[in-house]
Amino acid sequence: MALEGNTIELSAAKELDALIKGFVITQTDGEYNSVRKIWNGMVDRKPAIIVRCLNNNDIIQAIRFAREHNLVISVRGGGHNITGNAVCNGGVMIDLSLMKAIQVNPEEQTADVEMGATWGDFDKATQQYGLATTGGLITSTGVAGLTLGGGVGWLVRKYGLSCDNMIEAEVVTADGRVVIASLLENPDLFWGLRGGGGNFGVVSSMKLRVHPVSTVLGGMIVYTRDKAGEVIRFYREFMKTAPDELTLYTALLTTPEGVPIVATIGCYCGDIDKGESIIKPLRTFGSPIADLIEPIPYIQMQSLLDAGFTTGNRYYWKSGFLQELSDEAIDHIISHMAINPSPFSSTVIELYGGAGSKEPEGGTAYPHRQLEFNLVINANWIVTQDDEKNISWVRYFWQTMQPFLSHKVYVNALGVEGEDRIREAYGDSYTRLATLKSKYDPDNVFQMNQNILPA
Ligand SMILES: Cc1cc2nc3c(=O)[nH]c(=O)nc-3n(C[C@H](O)[C@H](O)[C@H](O)COP(=O)(O)OP(=O)(O)OC[C@H]3O[C@@H](n4cnc5c(N)ncnc54)[C@H](O)[C@@H]3O)c2cc1C
Repeated sequence: MALEGNTIELSAAKELDALIKGFVITQTDGEYNSVRKIWNGMVDRKPAIIVRCLNNNDIIQAIRFAREHNLVISVRGGGHNITGNAVCNGGVMIDLSLMKAIQVNPEEQTADVEMGATWGDFDKATQQYGLATTGGLITSTGVAGLTLGGGVGWLVRKYGLSCDNMIEAEVVTADGRVVIASLLENPDLFWGLRGGGGNFGVVSSMKLRVHPVSTVLGGMIVYTRDKAGEVIRFYREFMKTAPDELTLYTALLTTPEGVPIVATIGCYCGDIDKGESIIKPLRTFGSPIADLIEPIPYIQMQSLLDAGFTTGNRYYWKSGFLQELSDEAIDHIISHMAINPSPFSSTVIELYGGAGSKEPEGGTAYPHRQLEFNLVINANWIVTQDDEKNISWVRYFWQTMQPFLSHKVYVNALGVEGEDRIREAYGDSYTRLATLKSKYDPDNVFQMNQNILPA
């Protein structure tokens, strides 16, 4: 019996199931629809089979099966990428979401993490020891995709990008080998995995460096939206002298009650008393409607924004670094946010720098270490009928921002935007990445990503 919509025989899926410890899910299984769903409700793809892996052998068998049947492969880590690249149509979805083991070594200050873990899982495990590393701001984001593309978060200025904290990775390659990538073993691959995304193989686990972080000074200071110009200008100046312990973003958003606001949102991860004196100018600036910055457990900081990014809503984004956060750019941002059609949408201005601007030992494929503000225009809505107006809003906003952009984009914030934008994402690393791709994946088996074509 052929499965609906593709040519895979059920008997072939059963044979694969017998070879693995995990589970093969087909379109006839009850779980199929829930397992193929990911964070972005816009993504509704139907893989021929889903392989729910539990170990490296399962990943090897899934790759072999896909290649033998000439099927496209997608790899699901946390399933958070805006593009929906974790799910394919009519191919093999390698689902790692059951591989979540995390082993913390407090003496070494390292954590071994399997690639189905989310940042919520990771923080929960490492915070038991008062340890953390730079990770995503939303708990349901995957450690895998985020770290392979770079990884920014509240600790980026103090401890570098997530990928800068990668010590070693275990990778299943396109030809079914398991290889280790580190500074000592396959250092070329190790370089590429730190910013080159999922182009080179399926990463089954990573060893990450973790740092002592427990209580932080974090939260947000909120103003009515009419103060947006003053607040963003203040933010721009304030960050010129901010220490690496402080990572701070500015967001234009709407409260659950429907009030348009602007907020500075941040985390100070050093000594709390010192932090209080550093953020005093923030607290005393203007006339906020709420000052919600206080000492909080890091794990609370890491879930502060979850409610704004509900799984299953519909999302469309555009993002890019700005040449400078000029007064004119600020005015454009504010006026376009004013005509946003959905109360769930937001526009965020982010600044990394600090340790995130320093190249770690061995270098990384991640290319954008310059100190430029990053703009993220995030449309978030609920019903299909509103697709067009929300997508058009982002596109129009984006179009008018063109003169202010530096034409560099963080790969993990990139949508399906074509070859030129992919080159903007990999920047100066592109040629070396293409050479690496031809070594590890010459047939472009792993192409459901921000794809690097083999040189
Ligand atoms: C709400 C939200 C908040 C975010 N916040 C942040 C943030 O704070 N900081 C930040 O840096 N980024 C952030 N991002 C962007 C995020 O880094 C990317 O979406 C990232 O790709 C998510 O990784 P994932 O494992 O969840 O995604 P997935 O969709 O599962 O995977 C993303 C890509 O990586 C590939 N991949 C996944 N796992 C593997 C693996 N094990 N081996 C090889 N390839 C793999 C996939 O095939 C796909 O191409 C955010 C995204 C969202 C939607």
